[in-house]
Amino acid sequence: QDRTMTKIRNILIPLSSAALSGCGCAADQRPNIIYVFPDQFRNQAMAFWNEPEYAEQIRWKADPVQTPRLDAFADESIVFSSAVSNCPLSSPYRGIFLSGMYPERNGVTLNCNAERPESSLREDAICISDVLNAQGYSCGYIGKLHADFPTPNDPANPGNYVSDRRPEWDAYTPAERRHGYSYWYSYGTFDEHKNPRYWDTDGVRHDPKVWSVGHETDKAIEFLRNRNGERKKDAPFFLTIAYNPPHSPYESLDDCMAEDYALYEDMGYSELYVRPNADTTLTKADAARYYFANVTGVDREFGRLLDELKALGLDKNTIVVFTSDHGETMCSQGTYDPKNSIYTESFNVPFMIRYPEKIRPRVDHTLFSTIDIMPTLLSLAGLEDEIPTTAEGRDLSPVLLENGEECDIPDAALYIRNVNGPKDENGLVKGFFPAARGIKTERYTFEVSMKRDGSLQKVTIYDDFEDPYQLSPIDYKEQPELFATLLTRLQDKLKEANDVWYRESRIEHMKF
Ligand code: CA
Repeated sequence: QDRTMTKIRNILIPLSSAALSGCGCAADQRPNIIYVFPDQFRNQAMAFWNEPEYAEQIRWKADPVQTPRLDAFADESIVFSSAVSNCPLSSPYRGIFLSGMYPERNGVTLNCNAERPESSLREDAICISDVLNAQGYSCGYIGKLHADFPTPNDPANPGNYVSDRRPEWDAYTPAERRHGYSYWYSYGTFDEHKNPRYWDTDGVRHDPKVWSVGHETDKAIEFLRNRNGERKKDAPFFLTIAYNPPHSPYESLDDCMAEDYALYEDMGYSELYVRPNADTTLTKADAARYYFANVTGVDREFGRLLDELKALGLDKNTIVVFTSDHGETMCSQGTYDPKNSIYTESFNVPFMIRYPEKIRPRVDHTLFSTIDIMPTLLSLAGLEDEIPTTAEGRDLSPVLLENGEECDIPDAALYIRNVNGPKDENGLVKGFFPAARGIKTERYTFEVSMKRDGSLQKVTIYDDFEDPYQLSPIDYKEQPELFATLLTRLQDKLKEANDVWYRESRIEHMKF
């Protein structure tokens, strides 16, 4: 199987100096970067994958969603079919994306809440925003951060948490923990989509009582327009937008816009669920209508953002990324847990990147990992010399720029699942337990999980070419050569990542 970079629909236009002019900016101005990542938005929930030119590139069907803006954006972007979230959970994803380091080094090993004081983004981690800020960029963060340990630091009520929920999950992030972001309109984590709350740059709380995605897009548009000094006038910007939908809850019209729900209201399970691995007897089955409604709503707001970018003449010299922190199982594999598993619905994420001056639209099958995002984006912005030495991923910008032979293409992507370590006498979690490690290769999904005593729990192998819906796990004892090959590749990845499984020789101590 080659990893041919296939162009789709678009006629190739040579990237000439003519294409580089007319961007309305200084010729030497570095590109702006807009990084948009709704939460729990699975790769399958984009309609273009069902269009013939895309469908022939993949082995599965997309959800019956309406995403006209993402479909158009895909036609202008490199679309990664096989991007993965190395640790498919909110906080660990954010830690990896922001710092370019694996959880053990960046500090975010588990989802952040007040019972897990050790899981928090290290203040001294060099984040992508720290680097860009140092290079003169104006950095803005809008939406869900969920990378800080909540402490009793409510700006309006010092000495108290920001709410009375126990354990507290939400957090106020003070200026010294914002990693170079000079514009702030964010919160930790809070799941009432039509009752969101935010703390701004000055620590003032806002409770707008409207659907969060629309409101955050309004704030992003304000940042782009820059009428009130949201950013430096003649400097490039890095805008990070972390929408919470289509994250749960997805149970009622309190969770999405009625106009979007109307599109799915009359669809039965046989229409809503196109993946043969979905179990629609789960009580969660009705969630698909609300989930898809939020997918369509995110699509519309993302389109509104792109329209504004174009209207301001900023679209040519701006790198725009659309991705997510992890996927959503939505009844697949019979599980209620939407994420934190190696199943493709959870592990595989959207990743599209548009940069009109430098990259040509196409589908690419590179195993693009969260850990690779920071070095790749910095390099794409011409800042390859500024990639921090702490960054642990690959610079895959040569793949994007179509000189892929110049970089080391990953042959596997690492999967990490950590769970709580033991609790102390105060009920606080100490450390984490590295419950499972795995890899996705071009063809296979492979996971080894471990019991608390370090013995083998389970080996999981799927052939994603022959069995794209992962309905028929391969018994590792029946295919010893395949198992040995995948185990060696997993060990290579663990060593490369200096993972605790490697350092503690976890696999060597298991009996298979
Ligand atoms: Ca999440």
